[in-house]
Parts: sequence; structure tokens; C-alpha cells
Amino acid sequence: MERMQELCEILNRWAYEYYVLDDPSVPDREYDKLYDELRELERETGVVLPESPTRRVGGEPIKGFARHTHISRLYSLDKAVTEDELSAFFTRVEKHGSPTYTVEYKFDGLTVCLTYEDGNFVRATTRGNGVEGEDVTAQVLTVKSFPLKISYRGTLEVRGEAVIRLSVLEKYNREHPEEPLKNARNAAAGAIRNLDPKVTAARNPEILFYDINYMSEGPVPSQEEGMAFLRREGFKTYPYFKLCGTFDEVMAAIDEIEIERKRIDVLTDGAVVKVNEERIRGEMGYTDKFPRWAIAFKFEAEEAETTVRRILWQVGRTGKLTPLAEVDPVELAGATVRRATLNNFGDLTRKRVKVGSGVLIRRSNEVIPEILGAVSGTEGGEPVEKPAFCPACGSPVAEVGANLFCTNEKCPPRIVQKLTHYCSKNAMDVEGMSEQTIGLLCSKRGVERFSDLYRLTEESFAGLEGFKEKKISNLLSAIEKSKHVPLERFLYAIGIGGIGRVAARDLAEFGSVEAISALTFEDLVALENVGEITANAILGYFADEENRAELARLKEAGVTPFVKERKAGGAFFGETVVLTGTLSSMSRPEAQRLIEEAGGLCASSVSGKVTLVIAGEKAGSKLDKAQKLGIPVVGEEELLRRLGRK
Ligand SMILES: [Zn+2]
Repeated sequence: MERMQELCEILNRWAYEYYVLDDPSVPDREYDKLYDELRELERETGVVLPESPTRRVGGEPIKGFARHTHISRLYSLDKAVTEDELSAFFTRVEKHGSPTYTVEYKFDGLTVCLTYEDGNFVRATTRGNGVEGEDVTAQVLTVKSFPLKISYRGTLEVRGEAVIRLSVLEKYNREHPEEPLKNARNAAAGAIRNLDPKVTAARNPEILFYDINYMSEGPVPSQEEGMAFLRREGFKTYPYFKLCGTFDEVMAAIDEIEIERKRIDVLTDGAVVKVNEERIRGEMGYTDKFPRWAIAFKFEAEEAETTVRRILWQVGRTGKLTPLAEVDPVELAGATVRRATLNNFGDLTRKRVKVGSGVLIRRSNEVIPEILGAVSGTEGGEPVEKPAFCPACGSPVAEVGANLFCTNEKCPPRIVQKLTHYCSKNAMDVEGMSEQTIGLLCSKRGVERFSDLYRLTEESFAGLEGFKEKKISNLLSAIEKSKHVPLERFLYAIGIGGIGRVAARDLAEFGSVEAISALTFEDLVALENVGEITANAILGYFADEENRAELARLKEAGVTPFVKERKAGGAFFGETVVLTGTLSSMSRPEAQRLIEEAGGLCASSVSGKVTLVIAGEKAGSKLDKAQKLGIPVVGEEELLRRLGRK
């Protein structure tokens, strides 16, 4: 038991350094070793201490969320969008004295409340309606940015925002190209409010703490001291925290946040201004909804309400039918919006969107904003019918999960989208080949396959409106130029299911389309960015006779993707190198560039064809795998020496 306590203490300290301070003091391997020892002891004794880090693994899915009444009501914040509104807030506050103010980021995720009793974490809940929330303990346990054990012994409720870092979201989407998450806020909310804690863990959310909601011995004297308490107890807080004395100082801090928020790794939608001193807070009290002593300053609206008038269905290059809503025109972040999208049919029903319903739309990274959901109080309207036939070609529709697909391989918009993707910048980069031009070539000139593009001549464009001599010759030479592109771009262009740009780069390491077509399922799943679904899609692609015939036609037409030449005689000539861990003298992309300049090839995962592994600080599983395969491993020193930098 003593050893278990000791292990918990060490492991929790290391996890705190890693997840809260971002400053680990030991390599992952060391952590794993003690973790395994602890798990073994727990298995032997059948005892799991309340502070044991093994509690943080995703447990079994739960049937439903239990309701939980908060000890102390969780208020939301009153909002200001103009300087005048903020100024009015100051006038109200200063009737009660001259307090100091705190300014913090307002993060855009899901608010959660964590309860501690007698020093132990006991429960996590969502805010819900402020009085009652949902018990999400199993889900929150998979998050690592909070302590399981604290030194405070009374009853404590702390509040934080569950968020998914933008870089984490990006990485997740690279690894799950088949079902990407649209934005960080929905992704975070969906991760915590998911019945399966393993989904929560896979999305890797963290919680940024900012408030003490209840403390049995009474409130702390100020926000500043509250934050210090949270940090001391091992809760992750965001480093930005400004203490201001005047309205001007608060405005300056808000301006700073408005600029900085576009550069930071967490999604934010505003700044929160609070009276610092508890004495004045207590005097000001609450309205029935908000504390009178705090306000959220929201930046330019990126969400707006409007009404759905009609649902159209668009056919994409995979045949997927995507609902596109025509909405009443509405201003959103400086533009007039008339259309908004949803992911798929399932999304439409889940969000209860009907023709005539009021909806909340949000600007996302996409050109067309997305519908977040129906606004409550606008029930009614006409349900959207599930199309049984493709609106473009009339073929039957197949239902796969939440998605609907046109079953016709030759569905016209599908062909146009496939070719548009093939010609796009990150694919074959056929400059000037717009979706409209492709549409014309498909409908008027019978272009259907990629290889048909290489049969086009000047005559093909004769009689098509808007094509003058110069434009035609530019297009033809752009098509000609596309015969020679890097292999990774070709692999991305031909649209194998689930192959994004990252997976295409992994595959291109095999050197040729022929070599890739010979890979086995095991070869494929060993690649860092290829999962089982994608591996099967690749195998299916090469097993298809029409695809093989098309690859042959492309080759016949002179399409010969190339692999970057290796520089003979360079310090890394003939080597296939994997970089792992953190380098102190340069970034990994920079090291990769230098190695490639010196004739080497960089791979992203360790396999039999790798000849050298360069391990920096905190090298993890790749290092272990290299050692297992007997691949030579060197450190940063040797890298620098070979590059002639030492
Ligand atoms: Zn169709």
C-alpha cells in the first residue's frame, strides 16, 4: 500500500509537469514503467486509491447522463458588445467603491464543474441550466489537466472550460479524414457530452480553470487569490490574466486580447471582465441570471440567427449528399449570408432542422457557414424528407450511417467534383481549370475520367462560350504540365477514400504507384497516418478493375508522377530517416529539410526500410520500435555533426 501511495504521488507529479505545466522532467518511458508497476500492484491487491492515475483511462460507455444539482448555482455572464455597454457596467460598479478589475480570455468550449470532498475529486458535471447539470465524471476522468487529489479538505466546486486546442483538432482531423470535426467548440462539447468515455479520450480535450464556484469555508477574498489557489492546487489555468485599475486599462487589455486571440491555440469568443474584490462582489450580488460584478465582452458576432427556407442536396465527389440550406439573408461577421450547410442527413435530424425553423448559424473556416442547430421556441415547420433518389441523376440513394450516397458512379455533379479535386492546387494543380470549365467539358464534350483531360485539344474548346485562343492555350499547357507532379500529389488527386495530403505523403515514400499497389493491409496500417478504414479503401481501390485501367490510361497519356531525387554524395545519401522527440537546436520540419537537402529521405513511421532514427528529447514509441527492429538510433549531436554544424 505504501508503494502504491508513493507511485501515485510520483506519477501525479509527473503528469502535472507534463499536462499542466507543459514542462516534463522525465521521458515518457520512465512514466510508463512506474505506471505499469502501479497497475500491476492494483491488480494484485484489488485496491485502487482515489488519487490513482489509472482512474483516468476511458471506462465503458454509459447508458445515459445522471442529473446532478449544483451545490451553488452556476451563473452565466451578462454580455457587452460595445464600449458604451462596457462603460455602463463600470458606472454601475463604481457606485459601490473603486475596485480593481481582472481581464481574462473567454474560451469557447463547454463549461464543466468539478467537485472535491476531503481532498479527493468526486464528480464532474456540465453547467446545464445553471441549477442542474449532467454528471460527466467518467468522461472528465480521461482529461489530465486537473488533480485527483488536492490539499484543501473542505467541499470545493471549481469551474473551467473544456476545450480542444486548435492544433489538437487539426491533428485529429488529419488522422480521421473520413469523419473530421468541424470546429473546436462543437468538438469539445461533443467530447465531454459523449456516452462513451473512449471518444472523449480520443479527442483529447483539456480543461482550463478560471473560477471557484463554491468553497465550504466561504469565498476567497479576490479573483486574483482564487486563481493563485487553483494554480497552487494543480489545476491548469491559462497564463493570461490582467489586473487593471481603470476603465482605460481594461479597454487596453481587451484590445490586446482581440488581437492575440487569433494567434493562440484555443478558440475564444471574447474577454471576461470581473470585479476583483469579493467585498464589492458580495455587495453587488446577482440578478436572476447573472452576477452584477462581471461581464463578458464579446467580439464581432460570428454567429447569427435566421430561418431555413429550403433544403437543397449537393452531390460531392464521393457521391455523398450534403444538405445545403437556403436561409433568410442575415449579416454575419461583416458579410450577408444566404446559404448554410450541414454535414449530412443525420446531422439535419439530430439538430432538429426543419423548413421554417429558426436556426443558429456560425462562421467556420469553410466558405459557407454551418448550421449549429434549431433555436428553441421555433418548433414546428415542415420536416425535411429523406431523399430516396439522387436529386441530380435520379439514381437510388444508399444510406451508410448518417450519410446518404448517390449509387451512380457516373452521376454528373460527382464527376465534376472528382475532376475539380483532381485539378485543384494541392492535387495536380491544373491552373485555370475551374469547376465551371470542368462542368462544360463534362456536359458538352463528354469528359468523364481524369485521362480524358489529356485527350483535349484546341478543337475540344471550339464553340464553347468564353474560350478565346489565349485561354485555351493556357489551359492546354497547364494540363500538359500536370503530367509531371510529385507522387504524393498524384495520390491525393486520384481521390482514394480517406487519403488526405498527409496520408498521401506517407504512401509516396514507397516510390511508385506500382509499389503502393503491392502493399498489404499490414504494410498499410503500419503507416502513421493510415488507419484500418483507409487501408481497406486503398486495397479496394487497387483491386478495382476500372481503377487499374484508368491508372494504365494515365500512364499511357504520359502522366508520370515523380519522387524527389536524392542528392548523391550528401551526408544522408541512401538513408531513410525517422525523426522523433524534440530537438533543441531546430524544429523537426527544419531538420527534415536539411536531411533531405543532404540526400536523405524522411519517413514518418518506423518500418523495416528505415535505416536511421534520430531521437531528440522525449522520444516515445518510435524509439522503442526502432530498438525492437534493431535500427541504429543516434542523438541530436550526431545529426548536427553530419550536417556539418558541429
Ligand atoms: Zn446522382
